This record gives sequence, C-alpha cells and structure tokens, in this order.
Amino acid sequence: MDKFVSLVKEMKSLPLEERDKLVEEKKKVCICPTCPSFNKCAIVEREKLFCLLGRSFMCISYEEGCNCPTCPISKEVGLEYKYFCTRGDEKGQRYEQSVWGSTLSE
Ligand code: SF4
Ligand code: SF4
Repeated sequence: MDKFVSLVKEMKSLPLEERDKLVEEKKKVCICPTCPSFNKCAIVEREKLFCLLGRSFMCISYEEGCNCPTCPISKEVGLEYKYFCTRGDEKGQRYEQSVWGSTLSE
C-alpha cells in the first residue's frame, strides 16, 4: 500500500491522545521553519506539518520557495506534492489531482 495512505489509515485508527503524540513527534522533524515562505506569524502560532494538518490557518499566504521536497517526512511518508501551507495538505492535493487532473494552484 502507498506509504501516505498507510499513514492516514494508521492515524485514523489511533486514539486521539496517541494521534496527538504522533503529530507532535512529526512536528519536531518538520523543516518548515527553514523555508523562505515560513514567517514570524507561523512561529508564534506554532504552525507546522502542513502536509498532514492542512494549509496555514492565518499566517502564510505567499509562496517564496518550499523546502518540503528535502524534508525527511516527505520521503518517510511518500509525499507527492509541496507548498502544503498555501495549497492544502497532501490528501487534499491528491484529491484535486484525481478530480480535476491538476491542483487548484497549478
Ligand atoms: S513535508 Fe513540508 S510540511 Fe511536511 S513536515 Fe516536511 S517541511 Fe513540514
Ligand atoms: S509547506 Fe513548504 S512552502 Fe510551506 S512553509 Fe513548509 S516548506 Fe515552506
């Protein structure tokens, strides 16, 4: 099974507390803070791990480069997309691709 699909299934099956723990662990590995698109607001709001948690709620609106392809998480869970902070999580971008043949941002 696709690594990302396996992760989503695993996360769904976990009790809330365990899921939160997993998210916190992955947040520690997330390299978004090294990215040119990341900003002070995102630091203050503790926004990270957009690939799994979805786009930036109120901090990041401009794309000035994306470090996701070099992030260990990207390889670990088999991500196919990037710019998750502005374009939405991996699940959403895969869905857009399957429905429209492209993501909305392309
Ligand atoms: S792939 Fe991108 S959003 Fe996901 S953890 Fe890595 S740097 Fe953060
Ligand atoms: S999701 Fe990509 S573009 Fe957004 S902050 Fe993380 S590394 Fe940068």
